[in-house]
Amino acid sequence: MPKPTTLALLLALAACVAPVAAQETAAAPAAESTPVPPPPAWLPAMDALYPELRVSGLDPRDFDAEHWWQAVTPLLDRSAGFHIEDIGRSAEDRPLRHVRWGRGKTRVLLWSQMHGDESTGTMVLADLFRFLGEHPDHPVAARLRANTTLHFLPMVNPDGAARFQRRNTQGIDINRDARMLATPEARALKALHDRVRPAYGFNLHDQSPGYRVGDSGRGTAIALLAPPPSAANEVDPARARAIEVAATIRIALEPYLAGHIARWDETFNPRAFGDLTAQWGTSTVLIEAGGIEGDPQKQALRKLHFLGLLAALDAIAGGSHAGTPHALYRDLPENGEPWPDLRVVGGTLAIPGQPPVRADLLVNFRHPLSWEDGSIRDIGDLADTPARRTIDASGLFVVPALAAGGEAAGPCRIAISAAACFHLARDPEGRDPVWTLRSDLDTAQPAPGAGH
Ligand SMILES: [Zn+2]
Repeated sequence: MPKPTTLALLLALAACVAPVAAQETAAAPAAESTPVPPPPAWLPAMDALYPELRVSGLDPRDFDAEHWWQAVTPLLDRSAGFHIEDIGRSAEDRPLRHVRWGRGKTRVLLWSQMHGDESTGTMVLADLFRFLGEHPDHPVAARLRANTTLHFLPMVNPDGAARFQRRNTQGIDINRDARMLATPEARALKALHDRVRPAYGFNLHDQSPGYRVGDSGRGTAIALLAPPPSAANEVDPARARAIEVAATIRIALEPYLAGHIARWDETFNPRAFGDLTAQWGTSTVLIEAGGIEGDPQKQALRKLHFLGLLAALDAIAGGSHAGTPHALYRDLPENGEPWPDLRVVGGTLAIPGQPPVRADLLVNFRHPLSWEDGSIRDIGDLADTPARRTIDASGLFVVPALAAGGEAAGPCRIAISAAACFHLARDPEGRDPVWTLRSDLDTAQPAPGAGH
């Protein structure tokens, strides 16, 4: 987990991009010019309070359901207004639990981690439980308690979370099962939605950190969507409210993430939960946590996600989202193409027994923010392919490193889909390596190009 100083630096960096974003706005169509109002007055104090709200033990972010419930169950006391019930079992018989809090008339349903490897929203719900339970007199908590009833289905896909994989244990993507309802997890969520009949819904996901904001080079930290209720992409009254709520999230996060907030693709998907809850009349907001460079466990992003979600809930509780200009949502560029993670350009591939060949490499990582578990995705002329990080290998040879197991195992393969395992060296035998990648990228290793 980043130390507070690192966090401060990350956020300062995020804030630093604002002027750049503003410059680009000048050249961009007038669509981006709607002025963003200041965030809620309580937000800076909530930011300062956040270290007390952060539930510990959820970093690294590939925790399983048992671990998560162990961390949050002590927070969910009946005396603090929480009610818990089991509403189903996953395919592997893990409990699916519904948490309820508040006594207001506006019903809100929040669900997280339908995709087992998308845990940011689940961390945020833990922090939210702690805020609601331990700060009952905070004006925001009081407003939420009086005016809303919050219903939660955290970690819809506990079997996927146990393996940190997207799909459930039956190999089904639960967020493409809203129509067929083949999986027990989808049925539990649908039954809860039918019972609660929420006015508002929050569908909490993570997206690839490779996504850029529009056609810019800026990574998307948060993407928002008020999904359409049908393929006609119309704005009915429920969706209009969802757009306003999404805009309040942007307003809250703009001081931290200007230029790093995008809109998710609005194409209606008749199998996806967010789209169908919109069709069922719930003002639904999809929040996709992307990534912030240097925040490998998404802990900086977790806080911002928490602040944005709390601002949205508070707006719903107080009705303050009403009248928020839709342009604050509409102006957000859509997610652009996801960029690959690492590009090694300008080098000469020297595979033993083959003639040397000029070739660039692309490497993608299974854990892109922590640069772990890299494999080769492309080989050849990649001069025009952007990537999150580029290594200049001009004048160097790309030489296979020895596989784990050393001399006996022989050299790694440099081939599409093979594990990334090579040196950059001054000679074709790799005797004098200046840089090495062996599955995980050591970001502290000085990159060649500058010094040689
Ligand atoms: Zn997802």
